[in-house]
Amino acid sequence: MYKKIYNAIKKFDTIVIARHIGVDPDALASQIALRDSIRLTFKDKKVYAVGNGSSKFSHIGSLDKLGKIDEKTLLIVTDTPDKKRVDIEGIDQYKHKIKIDHHPFVEEFCDIECIEDTASSACEIIMNLIKNTKLECNKEIAETLFIGLVADSNRFLFDSCSPRTFSLAAYYLENYKFSVNEINQKVYKRPLKEVRLEGYMGENLVLTDNGVGYMKVTNEILDKFKVDSASPGNIINNFNFIDEVIVWVTMTEDIKNEQIRVSIRSRGPVINKVAEKYNGGGHMMASGAKPKTFEEAMKLIKDLDKVAKEYNKEEKER
Ligand code: AMP
Repeated sequence: MYKKIYNAIKKFDTIVIARHIGVDPDALASQIALRDSIRLTFKDKKVYAVGNGSSKFSHIGSLDKLGKIDEKTLLIVTDTPDKKRVDIEGIDQYKHKIKIDHHPFVEEFCDIECIEDTASSACEIIMNLIKNTKLECNKEIAETLFIGLVADSNRFLFDSCSPRTFSLAAYYLENYKFSVNEINQKVYKRPLKEVRLEGYMGENLVLTDNGVGYMKVTNEILDKFKVDSASPGNIINNFNFIDEVIVWVTMTEDIKNEQIRVSIRSRGPVINKVAEKYNGGGHMMASGAKPKTFEEAMKLIKDLDKVAKEYNKEEKER
């Protein structure tokens, strides 16, 4: 599979690299690292990393303005399982497409589909791709890949971390000698206003009978803490390892898009099937959804509570 991807990269002179809407560090890092590696390996190719960025992740790298494309352009999509979530305009005009993703399969929309749903991150797959082909790497690219790996595995805390995850981290660290501390500073340093918001969220977390903790953040609260609707989603991973909570959810009012931004995390129950019912999806233990109203979001909580109840029952019987 990696050879197939490398040969396709070698063949095309213009390559566009996209990833999912609602940019996050792994999605962005995977497309930027792949772009930079292709540029380093093939100096004459035109390679663009596209999509809407976020100033919050500007330390990962900058995106490109798309140049001229034609039917001989290759599109590579990283970290995205379905066509509708690719952050690019006019995806159907691309006649040649490659997918490199670690989400559970949703749909086939590319000629080459490299799906490794046991990988911790899209960056882990790109690390393996570079390591096993003639694609080149340097310290900067290695750092970018490590950022995505660290972010999507939540600092190597998730079960998605396999022996391969650690051995790739070790391989890149050994060969490119970057500072782990410097990277973590970049990824985890955050404004005091988000810490204050976290305090509010913890204080107002509502716990269901079966261990679902949900935190509702209205637009009024966002204004009060001077943060935007992405902030609660940035904080959600900090609510891991609470004794009484096995599934936890942020529900944030997004006035601009007339929806509720929901992030869900789990320490056991499978949550992505519930997320899919509410205009969402994702991984078994980390998903997102976009219900239209708080009322609809509360239905999602009820569904999660059922899943948690079932999980608790099964655990008791084990
Ligand atoms: P988040 O809570 O936004 O960090 O998302 C966690 C995971 O769920 C990521 O892998 C996202 O790609 C995925 N995800 C988030 N929102 C959606 C959505 N509306 N539809 C499908 N997948 C989503």
